[in-house]
Amino acid sequence: MLKGIAASSGVTIAPVYKYETPELVIERKNADAAVEVAKFEKAVEDSTKDIETIKEKATGRLSEEELAIFDAHLMLVGDPAFADEVKNMITSENINAEFAVDTVAGNYIAMFESMDDEYMRERAADLRDVTTRIKYHICDVKIADLSLINEECVIVAHDLTPSDTAQLDKKYAKGFITEIGGRTSHSAIMARSLEIPAIVGVKGVLSAVNAGDVVVLDALKGEVIVNPTAEEVAKYEAKEAKYKEEVLALKAFKDQPSVSVDGRKITLAANIGTPDDVDGALDNGAEAIGLYRTEFLYMNSQQLPTEEEQFVAYKKVLEAMKGKQVVVRTLDIGGDKKLPYLPIDPEMNPFLGYRAIRLCLDRKDIFRTQLRALIRASAFGSLAIMFPMIATINEFNEAKAMFEEEKAKLVAEGVEVGDNIQVGMMVEIPAAAVLADQFAKVADFFSIGTNDLIQYSMAADRMSEKVSYLYQPFNPSILRLVKMTIDGAHKEGKWVGMCGEMAGEPDAISVLMGLGLDEFSMSATSILRARSIANKLSYAEMQKLSEKAVACNTAEEVLELIHNTVK
Ligand code: PEP
Ligand code: MG
Repeated sequence: MLKGIAASSGVTIAPVYKYETPELVIERKNADAAVEVAKFEKAVEDSTKDIETIKEKATGRLSEEELAIFDAHLMLVGDPAFADEVKNMITSENINAEFAVDTVAGNYIAMFESMDDEYMRERAADLRDVTTRIKYHICDVKIADLSLINEECVIVAHDLTPSDTAQLDKKYAKGFITEIGGRTSHSAIMARSLEIPAIVGVKGVLSAVNAGDVVVLDALKGEVIVNPTAEEVAKYEAKEAKYKEEVLALKAFKDQPSVSVDGRKITLAANIGTPDDVDGALDNGAEAIGLYRTEFLYMNSQQLPTEEEQFVAYKKVLEAMKGKQVVVRTLDIGGDKKLPYLPIDPEMNPFLGYRAIRLCLDRKDIFRTQLRALIRASAFGSLAIMFPMIATINEFNEAKAMFEEEKAKLVAEGVEVGDNIQVGMMVEIPAAAVLADQFAKVADFFSIGTNDLIQYSMAADRMSEKVSYLYQPFNPSILRLVKMTIDGAHKEGKWVGMCGEMAGEPDAISVLMGLGLDEFSMSATSILRARSIANKLSYAEMQKLSEKAVACNTAEEVLELIHNTVK
């Protein structure tokens, strides 16, 4: 049995799909030219089939413009001039096919890359992608490709980037296990929104499993069993069925209000990553969208999404929510979220570096495009906008001023805009929490991002399983920062939400309610359980509980206090 961090609840049993691509070592070898030419031709055929399948699977999920990339790849893979050059090299030098492809492609890639034209440099990346696929086919080495999975499996990987997780098809991907990562890494967050069980931070799992092994993934406990016995299979099938029953029973809370026994009303909202997540949010009884992470729109695209593309996505969410509030967060790229088409110079500490609002205030072109799309969409529902990673009041004021400028321009152009767009901010940097009373004078609302707030307060990288014990939402230091934020806002009559993972933590509902949190925004699948808990609590008692909690010494003491108070 292997252990890790349960990142997305559930239990499943399925064969392993190892997501790792072995490195190819390509050397020049003498070989039979006819055999090598045949290998090359077969590899081109197989690569073409791969790309066609990938395109087919992406149809409906990607825009026409994005799908066109695959057409470009198909043209490249079947390019007759390229094929002739490779075949000539094989026959004139009697050498191995992979070496010929590597050499010919390498020359073109180097030439494209040295050009000033950005378009040509991008073509270099396309060519590398396509010819790598051909080389792997020649050498008969399998390229792991999540979008080609067509059988039920549990994916086992060193890590999954957010764009990897975006490719997963729930029909086949029954769960995943990664060697690194913590509860708040974005792959974990994506797993929760996909509603598939996941365990992260399982050291050595890649070498512990072989393709074809079956695993039990118990993401209620964070345990993995490789090749279970028949008895174990039966035991975990029963556990899976019981979990599914519990989830079903919670459906009774779907249309109930979220209110304590003594009448304190809270809002239970959903975090979403794409417009497609809205259905799941509503199905799970979300009263609002408390966090729409717009960076996935950028990450699932091959270039910066246009104002129009963004407008369509935001409008879709606002319309689907039918007047319920939607808090859209402006682009939060950087850290573990990267855009292949927007290279950021390597930094020693990317989570402390050029990201989120810092990048947007520097790349005003990107930021203004997004603001315009949002303001235009505001006519179609109840929109609130918030800025990520605000550290200083000047940053907030500068971002807000750009919002006002774009809004004024659009109004002057005769565009209809919503009459009450709230403009708020994430509180996820300790400096902002400490100065919340001042920020509350300029921001319309706060949303506490505990994923980052905890990593910055504890100086513990949220991606590192080695320091994951410092992810301590119940540490009194964190509770005090949350309290300062809520008190600072309420003093100015502003509301406070929390959209970090802590908001959906069953044990945290009590103490957060007591501290006066107004909105709890979480993975859609956590909402009904949260409502079943909140509706049994007394606000007056929770206020007393939270007073005691902030006076505790350790997270363990706080948890003990909660467990002794909330039965
Ligand atoms: C957070 O930091 O808590 C948050 C909600 O934002 P993200 O997880 O996207 O950084
Ligand atoms: Mg954050």
